Amino acid sequence: KPMENRISDIGPRDFNEFMPPVIKNNFGKWLYHEILEPGVLVHVAESGDEVYTVRCGTARLMSITLIREMCDIADKHCEGFLRFTTRNNVEFMVDSKDKMVALKEDLMSRKFDGGSYKFPVGGTGAGISNIVHTQGWVHCHTPATDASGTVKVIMDDLFEEFTGHNMPAPVRIAVACCLNMCGACHCSDIAVVGIHRKPPLIDHEYLDNLCEIPLAVASCPTGAVRPSKVEIDGKQFKTVAIKEERCMFCGNCYTMCPSLPLSDKEGDGIALMVGGKVSNRISMPKFSKVVVAFIPNEPPRWPTLTKTIRNIVEVYKADANKYERLGDWAERIGWERFFEKTGIEFTPHLIDDFRDPAYYTWRQSTQFKF
Ligand code: SF4
Ligand code: SF4
Repeated sequence: KPMENRISDIGPRDFNEFMPPVIKNNFGKWLYHEILEPGVLVHVAESGDEVYTVRCGTARLMSITLIREMCDIADKHCEGFLRFTTRNNVEFMVDSKDKMVALKEDLMSRKFDGGSYKFPVGGTGAGISNIVHTQGWVHCHTPATDASGTVKVIMDDLFEEFTGHNMPAPVRIAVACCLNMCGACHCSDIAVVGIHRKPPLIDHEYLDNLCEIPLAVASCPTGAVRPSKVEIDGKQFKTVAIKEERCMFCGNCYTMCPSLPLSDKEGDGIALMVGGKVSNRISMPKFSKVVVAFIPNEPPRWPTLTKTIRNIVEVYKADANKYERLGDWAERIGWERFFEKTGIEFTPHLIDDFRDPAYYTWRQSTQFKF
């Protein structure tokens, strides 16, 4: 519903300003939609109007040159309109089939110098859509892995599943580069999550100048940080101490205090989770479960990660029933069989409700057992 009588210009502008005319004219009066082919949808309105959508994969972090090219395409074919999906696909919409054919041809003809598609068409239906991901090493301060790099190698490997409808059901993949998970990892069919495995270092000499000590103490959800004093070369420093057995490597303290860095070449890496979804079809929405507790960071091509994901995708594709999401399939055959069929090693790290006192000193949240 249009927002009227806005009293400020704070926040995003009213989305109604950005709708293509055919969508504005038929707002709330759509009869049905269908997927005509991978990457191409049609929505039909009560009035008989049609909207053809062509969906393309994009990199989430894009150059201005590429964004300008997208705008040129929108100007040429779509009266200047385009939209992005939550999975970082870009969608171009036109109001006739002929325009859609010309648009798709144009998109598929645009390639980078190396020959790869700039705007590959796909990402719909029973295929693998573009990967939603977080900031990674490029931008954020607490990542345990890269996001753009891992997404690039995974999608390169699974490209034919993006451009086809060959899976039993939609497969949604997400990457979050730390346990804050500002991606949608908790509810994705396959989730790649960056994890730290060592407590923060403490730069005692600088801490009191760079940080508010009470803030650093208050930032820790497990109460592992406390005020302290140390003497270095005969000089006293006000600082903090960290009770390591309480630390779950979340990085919250580093967010508040740059003198508590926790990135570590050997300690950082990736956990793989599978089986989450937000759909109600077949079963209730569910959270993803940890199936691989640690994969090392192996830039630039992350071979262990891509191989492990490819294996899960192939076994699921061959074994699941039509319309069965990855988590539905694993629950139907039983998680024990999931591990048997994929050949993934099952370890105590993967048990959700692990409560053995012998392992209380392991760092764990309610969801992750590392
Ligand atoms: Fe930053 Fe964590 Fe979000 Fe990655 S997942 S962008 S490290 S907060
Ligand atoms: Fe506390 Fe998290 Fe910092 Fe560990 S990393 S000391 S749990 S805030």
